[in-house]
Amino acid sequence: MSDFSQNSSSNPSPTPLSSTTGGVRVRFAPSPTGYLHVGGARTALFNWLYARHVGGTLILRIEDTDFERSTSEMVDGILQGLSWLGITWDEGPFYQSQRMDLYARAAEKLVANGHAYYCFCTKEQMDDYRAKASNEGRTPMYPETCRKIDPAEAARRKQAGEPAAVRFKVPEHGSTVFDDAVFGKVEFQNEEIEDFVLLRSDGVPTYHLSVVADDIDMRMTHILRGADHLSNTPKQKMLYEALGVPCPIFAHVPLILGPDKTRLSKRHGATSVMAYRDEGIVPEAFRNFLALLGWTPKDSSKEVLGDRELIELFSLDGIAHSNAVFDRAKLDWFNTEYIRAYPSEKLLPLVEEEWKKAGLVPGTADAAQLVATIELVKSRARSLKDFAGSFRAFFSDTYENDPAAVEKFLKDPAVREMLVELASRYETTAEFTEQSTEQVLRDFASEKGVKAGALINGSRVALTGQAVAPSLFAVMVNLGRERTVARLKRAKEL
Ligand code: GLU
Repeated sequence: MSDFSQNSSSNPSPTPLSSTTGGVRVRFAPSPTGYLHVGGARTALFNWLYARHVGGTLILRIEDTDFERSTSEMVDGILQGLSWLGITWDEGPFYQSQRMDLYARAAEKLVANGHAYYCFCTKEQMDDYRAKASNEGRTPMYPETCRKIDPAEAARRKQAGEPAAVRFKVPEHGSTVFDDAVFGKVEFQNEEIEDFVLLRSDGVPTYHLSVVADDIDMRMTHILRGADHLSNTPKQKMLYEALGVPCPIFAHVPLILGPDKTRLSKRHGATSVMAYRDEGIVPEAFRNFLALLGWTPKDSSKEVLGDRELIELFSLDGIAHSNAVFDRAKLDWFNTEYIRAYPSEKLLPLVEEEWKKAGLVPGTADAAQLVATIELVKSRARSLKDFAGSFRAFFSDTYENDPAAVEKFLKDPAVREMLVELASRYETTAEFTEQSTEQVLRDFASEKGVKAGALINGSRVALTGQAVAPSLFAVMVNLGRERTVARLKRAKEL
């Protein structure tokens, strides 16, 4: 552990430096005050891709020092989301709530080396400062009242038990500059940064202190995180300097916007990763889609990229400066592509989940038959939900007919009568193959002097409840003679 953490502690510790010297170390550090949202998942994914690309180490750190808002349910939800996306980590999860000593020691070190000071201002005093600033139309900045207290005097008051926070002494002049791997040179004027709190009087660290203390202790080499943290970075850089530790490389990833170009939020639809699973998105499709939100591969014009390709192509210089727009239609396109390319045996368990949710009990328990049916319909799926929705008739005898399809193709009583008669023909044909079923239908149509198309369209609705479906004769064979006959006969009542 770092030099500000000499005390032994029972908390889990990252791997000793000797075993990974020189390697890239990155982390995903979610706060479990909410579910795993799209932006967080994208940060996790970029860290994972980068770690895997360079053969580095990904650390998972749960930033749960907001005791009131952090819950173990949220932690479980985050872990579940990561596992759904196939993101694996090498060390952790570490919990900040179990590492409080480390932060206290870092704060003490900063007081001792003169970079921080005890602040005895009460909540009431702070409220007064803020009210005064807002009355005067100023941005509230801590007036540095306690910075002026003699350190020996402050130490004495603290020793005597007076409640004290620890504040960082921000340099009064000059600027803080860092080189961001995405945004290039970023500069902040120090006089615009107030003396920020490191440790509250109740001993709870603020985000800036815990994040830097941990990033040092866990020996992070790169910090990849959302651009919403850009403005936090100068404060963190000051902390590295004050602790005498070199800064890691920062790479801030652009924000994700909704189609209206405002920051992605619930107004734009689901923001929780698991909601997309529940909407029937397959994880590989979501991962591919997320990877391209703010990153473009340099040497590939392909968009459909599996995890191996993503890992191989990922680089920090492919990360865009401009914000990315969450395009739902694009996600659905990826999903269609992935479902189509999935081996049907691999789709079966995912589809079974959908059936369970929809209360659909398939008409057969024969896995080979179910896989064959999935094979027949999957290229038309936009979502896994379709297998329990518009494809329901392929798997169950209890399904609804699309009223518009019935209206369009089965309205004519003559067509319905003919389908019943056609069913009788199918009952007695020797064979029941794609070829024979087609032949029977075409012969029947010419015998009746009607267009085969009218019977094909009518049969499709009678068999599947839908106006669009795969080739009708493949559907007949898949359903089998018995079901085909029964459903064509039922057309009369539709
Ligand atoms: N816990 C912070 C968050 O969820 C991340 C901190 C960081 O990456 O520096 O936004």
